[in-house]
Amino acid sequence: MTTAPVSVSSDVPSDVTPGLPSDVPFDVALDVTPDVRNLRDLPAAERDRALAAVSAALEGKPAEEIAGWTARTFGRDVIVAASMQDLILPHLFASVIPDVEVLFLQTEYHFPETLETLDVAIRDLAITVIEALPAQSVAEQDAQYGEKLHDRDPNLCCFLRKVEPLARSLDGRAAWVTGVRRIEASTRANTPIVSWDDQHDLVKINPLVAWSDEDVEAYQVKHDLARNPLVAQGYPSIGCAPCTRKVAPGEDPRAGRWSGNDKTECGIHT
Ligand code: SF4
Repeated sequence: MTTAPVSVSSDVPSDVTPGLPSDVPFDVALDVTPDVRNLRDLPAAERDRALAAVSAALEGKPAEEIAGWTARTFGRDVIVAASMQDLILPHLFASVIPDVEVLFLQTEYHFPETLETLDVAIRDLAITVIEALPAQSVAEQDAQYGEKLHDRDPNLCCFLRKVEPLARSLDGRAAWVTGVRRIEASTRANTPIVSWDDQHDLVKINPLVAWSDEDVEAYQVKHDLARNPLVAQGYPSIGCAPCTRKVAPGEDPRAGRWSGNDKTECGIHT
């Protein structure tokens, strides 16, 4: 099938990049930056084609360069989602967007260790944490749906405490960043670096898609990052406390999420 050429520009809109460091890493050979101000208005096929071209150009680039492209393209109109399993994304993006907004989905069901890691991130990194709260407290949710909704209907619980607050937090933004990696699950194996998020109507950027567990470890060692202590205690994938168990050595790292249930994703990436 013949397709029209993608309309691209290497010019970075000056009005979306105020206050960025002048040494943001950026490969000038990557001259496929779509005009982000008009991306939402493009026909879906043209928009997807433009972002696929960007994604292909970024494939194989270091995460630092992908973060640099993100900063140069979207300036401050980007929010970085972080679960506080580690501090990699907040650290990576704080280096290219000072005081970058970091989104934490405050489900009110987190492990104390995760909340302590959040406190360390706020203390140590040049970030602005945005805590996305569910519409209802746990007590209010219990009153309406009954206690331990996570045991009886985890999809509804995740929708109320993660999916809806995320959608609210992303509304009107140009782009968001996630730490999804392809090796984490078969459902994530084909995740692109850059794509249009139809569910939330903005650009989604996954700078760590190609990272192995060794890459994760190497970044944390190189930058001497604080750790969520649960990882060393047998929790390689950390979600809410009621829905996360330890995994045995050699077990699928995500086997501890919604264990005993066929649910594998909370719904924010699907
Ligand atoms: Fe609820 Fe569990 Fe989903 Fe957290 S992970 S929002 S407790 S179902």
